[in-house]
Amino acid sequence: DKTKKSREPILSIQHLSFAYPKQAVFSDLNLTFPAGQMTAIVGKNGSGKSTFSNLVTGFLKPDSGRILFDNQPLDGQSVKERADKIGYVLQDPNQMISQNIVYDEVAYGLKLRGLSDDQIQAKTRTMLEVAGLDNMRHWPISALSFGQKKRVTIASVLVLAPRVLILDEPTAGQDYLNYRSLMNFVAELNRTQDCSIIVITHDMHLMLEYTDRAIALVDGQVIADMAPAELLNDPALLKRASLAPTSLYDLAESTGLDAVALSKRLVQEEMT
Ligand code: ADP
Repeated sequence: DKTKKSREPILSIQHLSFAYPKQAVFSDLNLTFPAGQMTAIVGKNGSGKSTFSNLVTGFLKPDSGRILFDNQPLDGQSVKERADKIGYVLQDPNQMISQNIVYDEVAYGLKLRGLSDDQIQAKTRTMLEVAGLDNMRHWPISALSFGQKKRVTIASVLVLAPRVLILDEPTAGQDYLNYRSLMNFVAELNRTQDCSIIVITHDMHLMLEYTDRAIALVDGQVIADMAPAELLNDPALLKRASLAPTSLYDLAESTGLDAVALSKRLVQEEMT
């Protein structure tokens, strides 16, 4: 059982609508994200996952509706102002890294914010330890594996103590062991830091094993907001959202469902 510190809503999306010039995406979207929760946002390409992240982080402006952080509207706050509250870790760590050395990368955001040297050092060292990177702090980032770089980027965002952390496909491009170690790390953060973690993923297994809540998007609409096992146990919803479990046997094992029955239902659903 997870020891969650609180269930206070940190992020609320209220009546949010957004359209690109030729493509409406969200129309009256309403969602609340409490502290201590790890939520998966799932859906096929084009379902609105990146648009959602970009609206929350401030890269895009909603046409109407509001986004509240700690009950305060975020409208009018720049990407930079929001970054202290809402951390965003991109899929590709190479797009985020700006320094050469691990320590400097993790300390970078604190330096930009003008903290004293003592504060920077204390916070950076603590975060490096939390992230299991302390023994690599003097290493050139170029010597790290993709998964280790990913950890550095998560640490560099988390050191700013955001209450909301959005991870875009955190395990993309990683082998199984790196995947497990990274997700165990994220789960540990979720247990120990009082933050709400939103994971954008295609990976049903990740969703089931690590998250508390699954939000499935289809063309910008929330078609499911439920426990991950509940979504995976609903072939009709999975089909509507074009979601396919990666391995039926993994799935059966984690849900305690019968793999054969599950498979038959999925096949049946496919044919209807
Ligand atoms: P996802 O992240 O789930 O793949 P997106 O949020 O990128 O989905 O896309 C949602 C919809 O908005 C899609 O129909 C996509 O084609 C469209 N879209 C995404 N980015 C742009 C853009 N910059 N200009 C116009 N349409 C876009």
